[in-house]
Amino acid sequence: MVVRPDPVWPRYALSVTETLAPAKIKQINHWLGGRPVAGESGRKGLVYNPATGRQTAEVDFATEAEVDAAVQAAKQAFVEWRTVSLAKRADLFFRIRELVNERKEEVARLLVAEHGKVLSDALGEVTRGLEVIEYCCGLPTLLKSEYSEQASTGIDVYSIRQPLGVVAGITPFNFPAMVPMWMWAPAIACGNTFVLKPSEKDPSASVWTAELLKEAGLPDGVFNVVHGDKVAVDAVLNHPDIAAVSFVGSTPIAKYVYETATAKGKRCQALGGAKNHMIVLPDADVDMAADAAISAAYGSAGERCMAISQVVAVGHVADGLIDAIKARIPKVKVGDGLDPSSEMGPLVTKEHRDRVASYVENAPGEGATVLVDGREGAPEEGFFLKPSLLDNVSPGMKAYEDEIFGPVLGVARVDTYDEAIRLVNENPYGNGTAIFTRDGGVARKFQFAVQAGMVGINVPIPVPVAYYSFGGWKASLFGDRHVYGPEGIDFYTRGKVVTSRWPDPATSKVDLGFPQTR
Ligand code: NAD
Repeated sequence: MVVRPDPVWPRYALSVTETLAPAKIKQINHWLGGRPVAGESGRKGLVYNPATGRQTAEVDFATEAEVDAAVQAAKQAFVEWRTVSLAKRADLFFRIRELVNERKEEVARLLVAEHGKVLSDALGEVTRGLEVIEYCCGLPTLLKSEYSEQASTGIDVYSIRQPLGVVAGITPFNFPAMVPMWMWAPAIACGNTFVLKPSEKDPSASVWTAELLKEAGLPDGVFNVVHGDKVAVDAVLNHPDIAAVSFVGSTPIAKYVYETATAKGKRCQALGGAKNHMIVLPDADVDMAADAAISAAYGSAGERCMAISQVVAVGHVADGLIDAIKARIPKVKVGDGLDPSSEMGPLVTKEHRDRVASYVENAPGEGATVLVDGREGAPEEGFFLKPSLLDNVSPGMKAYEDEIFGPVLGVARVDTYDEAIRLVNENPYGNGTAIFTRDGGVARKFQFAVQAGMVGINVPIPVPVAYYSFGGWKASLFGDRHVYGPEGIDFYTRGKVVTSRWPDPATSKVDLGFPQTR
């Protein structure tokens, strides 16, 4: 099957069966000061189409000097950008919104080609990112502050929020378009300039974004991209001209990024990994809970920080629920993301696929039961693993303790609600969680007591809408601000309070006492 060659973006169109000869390997460069710039380090990363297992591109890895060039471009652009009126910035965001909406299929195809997720899921990713851009169209309202007239006699007090300067984003492979949108959109809307270090596994979406922002009219240097690995990340974390760093990725790196950035005096929000539990109570609708578990565990091949990776079945619901999940698994269509009939694509790399498969292999040795083995019948070409289901997965087992980040769903059986919530609260992660029940009272108790940042009540993937903020608790977040929504605006601005008077010079006098309100 050959997918249309795109007339506007021919280099982004890939087909299901396309074979790339070495000569067709795409070169992915940095984006500095409004233009692509080839890297000079000589170090490059390899980019694959996970559905075929073939290399499709190579991406430059930045040196410290190249990161500095991006920061200098951003620093220079900040001087003008922070003076641009709210009205003009909002106008630009409306244009960005229109362009992303018009072209979302182009970037979705890029995501399929490098990440492997299916096209409908990729479009869903872009649409959720677009909501954050739409939220930023309201920036004149979002940046409104407070004013107290006559706070003291003849004195007015007001607060303003100002941009920080050059800010940076470091992003993971699993949402190559949306997670950067969570960061650059509010950062730029608030008047900052931005340096993005995207995942080296699927970097094309970031360059697509840079080209689109330029076309929308964003001044050169406001948005920059440096590709790379730890060298680039460390250069960002240590750069004296970067005021704040947003990070999304795994917990060990989030911790490292937070500790390094804050030690250098930077503001930092670092979102980490997850182990999201879904509690199913005995009164839940079993079919609805099974549909939700299948969708949330195997969508995007489980490579979502909000994926459900652990079901906690309470009491007698377990057997019926497991049967219902098992019955649905063979119906999940696994294949190339560009094939419209596919519901689940491959994993991002061979190494990751093999790591995820090892949890299935080792499960019996840990005391868990493999009910469905996703290694069986998986397509041989590409980095595929079919959905797997493990029963009797409990604390102490690696399949329970680790973030597997693949299509492997574990089930734990407990007798009571209290045991179920204890499991969730004792888990070191606290990103998302869900409860399935018809009992409003228990759901409300759960919402009150559960230690996680995002809670679903009969909703398996409770990603907040753009006018709330996204983020977890415990080992899923380092820092004290969630991303996007009101907390995102807060993160990318700092407050200033002005006390002002316009006195009649005739009333002026010297007073060495501490100012008091009158
Ligand atoms: P990762 O931590 O391996 O990489 C994230 C970023 O850090 C990438 O840009 C990468 O280049 C960089 N990086 C990797 N190793 C580094 C090192 N040693 N030093 C400095 N920088 C390094 O994460 P990933 O595999 O790309 O993404 C998957 C992870 O992200 C999962 O753990 C998932 O839960 C998490 N995630 C969390 C959220 C959230 O909102 N909490 C959202 C999406 C993904």
